[in-house]
Amino acid sequence: MATCSITHATPASFIAHQAKRSLEEAIALGFLKTEVDVFIGGGLRYFTQRQDGRNLLKELRAKGYQTLADTTADIRQFSKGKLAALTADLHPPRMTEGRGDYLMRATQTALQILKQQPKGFFVMIEGSQIDWGGHANNTKYVTSEMIDFDQAIGEALRFAQQDKNTLVIVTADHETGGMSLTAGSTANGTAEAKFTTGGHTGVMVPVFAFGPGAEAFGGIYPNTAIYSKMIQALGLTRPDNHPTSGKNRSSTGQY
Ligand SMILES: [Zn+2]
Repeated sequence: MATCSITHATPASFIAHQAKRSLEEAIALGFLKTEVDVFIGGGLRYFTQRQDGRNLLKELRAKGYQTLADTTADIRQFSKGKLAALTADLHPPRMTEGRGDYLMRATQTALQILKQQPKGFFVMIEGSQIDWGGHANNTKYVTSEMIDFDQAIGEALRFAQQDKNTLVIVTADHETGGMSLTAGSTANGTAEAKFTTGGHTGVMVPVFAFGPGAEAFGGIYPNTAIYSKMIQALGLTRPDNHPTSGKNRSSTGQY
């Protein structure tokens, strides 16, 4: 689930195999080709106003999904079964423009549905617009989106703490904006920042992990190693053709 279109780069990378991120109608088709149980995000137009005339929401219903195409309905009305929720025509609004507790509610809903899976589950939850605030060099945009993401992390941690068999990993694919905190106060909740670029940077990003297997996420390593570490944590075998397989990426911080 995401606070952007569900066909946007990060959620798409978990679903589709397309040459370009801009092929969002083709990416939307990917959701019909997987057995994903729950997806929640914007991007309704790529499902219902397509060049090929198909209505993917109708097709998803035929595949047994409950569907939601409503920006105002409370997602928490769904508590079991498969769910395809398209919550905006394109992207859900910014926090500062009234998105409210959408991501937290989406997280609660997904966890409620997925915890009923007897074999366990994997869920990706993205605070999509933190990056957009960085591109805009807009401190208020970054901080409001970050606080919103933090609420979703809180939901995930509460679930993991109770469940005791869930690994929560929190990270970013990159830093955006070269943002540096120059002043601020925890007492009155203010932050001032300066930016060095409107693009992505190579600044190292933190990886936080909580739950069984969390110790494997310490140290410094290439971000592709997170894939291998997840596969190991899940007790699965890596496919032989994956670029990091066999290279013995360190999980002990030697890099
Ligand atoms: Zn970006």
